[in-house]
Amino acid sequence: ERTTVVVVGAGVAGLTVANLVHRNGIGCVVLERHDRAHVEGRQRAGVIDHAAEQVYLRAGLDDLLAGARRSGTLEFRVDGVPRRFDAAAHADGRVGRLIPQQLLVRRLISTFVDGGGDLRFAAHDVALHDIDGDRPHVTYRDADGVPRRLDADFLAGCDGFHGVSRASIPPDALTTYRHADEVGWFTVLTDSPPPALPLLALSPHGFAAHFGRGPAAGRFYLQCRPGEDLAAWTDDRVWRQLRLRLADEDLVAGPIVAKAVIDARSFVVDPMAHGRLFLVGDAAHIVPPLGGKGMNLAIADAGVLARALSAAVHDDDPGPLREYSATCLRRVWHDQEFSRWLGEVVFHGSDPATAGPFRWRLARARLDRLFTSPAAARAFAESTAGPT
Ligand code: FAD
Repeated sequence: ERTTVVVVGAGVAGLTVANLVHRNGIGCVVLERHDRAHVEGRQRAGVIDHAAEQVYLRAGLDDLLAGARRSGTLEFRVDGVPRRFDAAAHADGRVGRLIPQQLLVRRLISTFVDGGGDLRFAAHDVALHDIDGDRPHVTYRDADGVPRRLDADFLAGCDGFHGVSRASIPPDALTTYRHADEVGWFTVLTDSPPPALPLLALSPHGFAAHFGRGPAAGRFYLQCRPGEDLAAWTDDRVWRQLRLRLADEDLVAGPIVAKAVIDARSFVVDPMAHGRLFLVGDAAHIVPPLGGKGMNLAIADAGVLARALSAAVHDDDPGPLREYSATCLRRVWHDQEFSRWLGEVVFHGSDPATAGPFRWRLARARLDRLFTSPAAARAFAESTAGPT
């Protein structure tokens, strides 16, 4: 069997590439390891930034974002005192929109499939072959266990951090950058009312954040020790700590539907391509979740790749594909820096015992500048909006 592009992985990255190239008249097959219910049920991110929104609007995929509210203000609650940051005012109105990741994924799947796209769930043992030759191909076992082969011109490796695509590239062809946080992260998903504004709370008890995930659900983050034992966090302890850190005695509790200690790694591979294989999203880079950039980088990469594939296929111009990695990495490193900066402000600025008094004062000074320097506020707001 032959197609033009094989996309490995049906997360936000793969589904965005697939929708964009399919709408552009380029043949494409998506191979996803899990079944549809599993893929549609994974709850992670909740905001698409302005740059990501533009990727969909430019492609005429406005319906993907139907009903998604704009998100232009966020609250830093510092030792219980609210400081509202008006991102919209500092970024010429360029703000993101609130949409739970699994809702976006569900809509990307139905848009692609209803438009005649070829998406194969439960594709096992995906293996990539001849990625640096002219005729790459992919083998896998289909949902019935039958071995299959797909020949293609291009491969899009969109299978996340643990996928097979990056692992198919000879290690000496890649430079890998890693950085581990010195604090731990603990996150809970709850069926409880979302906050009025996305909320980042600095408190001497440790950092906590509260973000909405739809009309009746929330995601909380709590700073914890690295390698923290999940068993130590009973539901009761979670709610007590949240009330303390958010300085909100009246915080409405609800069922906790998921708890996880997050491995808050920063990771980048360079280049994001090898031969005819192009890595997209988490397959190529991981940013800590607090900056809200992981899903948005995946969408940004997908937009760059789809344009480059169009130039290669329709205009016989391989230039943009050659530039794919460099184009994406410029933004990736910017967002690494932004996510780290924000992490340091909220973690170090929360708990002087962990940060030490000097870094604690530095972090508080960095935060203060957002509210006293229009230039600093603009730089922050531009980073939250994503590049134009
Ligand atoms: P994924 O979503 O991981 O998709 C990869 C797909 O490939 C999956 O469907 C997987 O099943 C499939 N796959 C894997 N291996 C194979 C294989 N061998 N063969 C076939 N298919 C395969 N980002 C934000 O922007 N904002 C946030 O607030 C935010 N919060 C987060 C909270 C949590 C708890 C987590 C874990 C992440 C968060 N992120 C956030 C990050 C964001 O979810 C990811 O960056 C995003 O999912 C990346 O999309 P992706 O398509 O690259 O990878």
